[in-house]
Amino acid sequence: MRAINLLIVDDDDVDRERLRRLLQRLEINVSITEAGSIAEARAHLQRSEFDCALVDYRLGDATGTDLVRLIKSELGRPFPVIMVTGIGDERVAVEAMREGVYDYLSKAQLRPQQIKNAIEGSLRWVQLETELAETQERLMRLSMFDSLTGLPNRNLFFDRLEQALRASGRGGATFALLMMDLNLFKEVNDTLGHEAGDKVLAEFGHRLQQLSRKSDTYARLGGDEFAGLLMGTDSVAGAVAVAEKVGRALRAPVAIEGDLVAVGVSIGIALFPAHGADARTLLANADQSMYEAKRSSKNYKVFTSRTSPGETNPFLVSSHLGEALDRKELFLHYQPKVSLQTGELVGVEALVRWQSHRFGLLAPSDFIPAAERSSLINPMTYAILDMALEQSRLWRDDGVELSMAVNLSARVLDDERLAERVVDALSSRGLKPETLMLEITETALMTSPTHARDALHALREAGVGISIDDFGTGYTSLKYLRDFPISEIKIDRLFISSLKCESRDASIVRSISALSDGFDVDLVAEGIESLECCPLLYELGCDFGQGFSIAYPMPADDLIAWRSGRASLMPSSGAKLRSAARLALQTSKG
Ligand code: C2E
Ligand code: MG
Ligand code: MG
Repeated sequence: MRAINLLIVDDDDVDRERLRRLLQRLEINVSITEAGSIAEARAHLQRSEFDCALVDYRLGDATGTDLVRLIKSELGRPFPVIMVTGIGDERVAVEAMREGVYDYLSKAQLRPQQIKNAIEGSLRWVQLETELAETQERLMRLSMFDSLTGLPNRNLFFDRLEQALRASGRGGATFALLMMDLNLFKEVNDTLGHEAGDKVLAEFGHRLQQLSRKSDTYARLGGDEFAGLLMGTDSVAGAVAVAEKVGRALRAPVAIEGDLVAVGVSIGIALFPAHGADARTLLANADQSMYEAKRSSKNYKVFTSRTSPGETNPFLVSSHLGEALDRKELFLHYQPKVSLQTGELVGVEALVRWQSHRFGLLAPSDFIPAAERSSLINPMTYAILDMALEQSRLWRDDGVELSMAVNLSARVLDDERLAERVVDALSSRGLKPETLMLEITETALMTSPTHARDALHALREAGVGISIDDFGTGYTSLKYLRDFPISEIKIDRLFISSLKCESRDASIVRSISALSDGFDVDLVAEGIESLECCPLLYELGCDFGQGFSIAYPMPADDLIAWRSGRASLMPSSGAKLRSAARLALQTSKG
């Protein structure tokens, strides 16, 4: 083992010598450097790396505390100082500890064992402090970069977008926003497996980084969704040239286990300020163009405010959205949430579907975004809440008490009467508020107005649970945990579905679990696609789990049967459950 590098700082030659002798008698390997003044100590500290300093309290016209302050401001790393005090200095030494001195020893009773303990303790302290700093750094990276592709994540991307908007206010800067969605990604995942899917994503991350100019930001927003922010691009032609370059780069096949897989991308383009003056509008417009691009022969589309009539596209869906409510075409499937410790069913999540007489069966991703852009999201959400609570009431009357989770869109948080309406919906059915869990995404929390915070506090005080959905894909930040009355965190399936021991995902789950430990919240793993993950997830700190391997979302009638005979249900439930499974699979791409 290497020697411990010690620095003794004392202006009294005799005391220094005494301390040196004591240290040399210890059964630890030490290398000692001496300094007689603060200036000398400072010079030594600048020249070489020490593990610990033993500092006299009185140093001529300065004190050991002055040295501690100096070290703190100049060294930039945790560094332990053990203060050695003369008679009568103990009181000041205690004060010095408040300034960051690790320990103090009295000169009058210096014992070798005591010094040894102090030195060894201080080294452990440094190690802990360093690990803590590294964990913070890792969490910080996790909260800003996507671990699979190394690209900025949603978090950092939105931050840059906000920055760009702020800068534009000052100097008239322009930029283009690209929203990108991979074309055949789901097929790669389904036919070649998730590992192949991950390879494609990582490779595309690499390609985007390669073609990125210094002023561009390319990010992975989640799933197979990417985005680009092109600073300084002020013309449609400029943005289109970049979109074509990106299109070519992502059309080139990826080699996977001897196969060449061509995936391709659809790109929606919105320019600032021509196509929107704020982040929400720009994102919605680029998104809308992206969907149009998916249905066109070109792989990109620049936003135009007019959409072509007669096409079966999300905009057609959005213009008939009212029918979903008027004709009562919405219905719910329920996905079980189980305890990872006991396997017991603890609750369900209500997931909406639309059986449209016009378009057939639609998944939430086909119409919720359109509803969110329209004023229909509020009535739709309250209709869904009513249906879910009505089901809770029916189950309760049959003696089955399950927690019911309902998803809330960001827009609904704007409704000032949210808390009141939720509480009314519960009390009119005689349901305990504790049985309801409202799921909100991090990004929705982040973009919500201040009165949303009050509404959530009011709901939490009434007993309703608040869950952060898709955690890890948005603004993963301790701040929100602190500011909002959170009772549950659902870790996004991005980290769960391909979880393996000792993988990066496992370490992410472990970090989230460590992070949530300080707050009184339950941790739920969503998107568990293999039952083998369950023990590991439990070990990593997840209390509950949800996912296809446990159960697909299913109609209410099937749920009770599922609960009483899980194994026997799958084959006998027939077409209904299988189509639920197919729908869930189709839409799980997100
Ligand atoms: P979410 O709240 O994160 O719901 C979980 C989604 O993941 C569901 O998709 C579910 O079917 C899917 N899923 C569950 N287990 C697995 C798994 O093991 N693997 C994979 N790949 N996927 C799994 P669904 O039903 O298509 O819903 C998608 C999203 O649509 C939901 O994500 C939620 O954000 C939104 N949504 C659903 N219902 C509502 C609603 O009533 N209101 C609002 N505002 N949004 C809703
Ligand atoms: Mg949810
Ligand atoms: Mg989720």
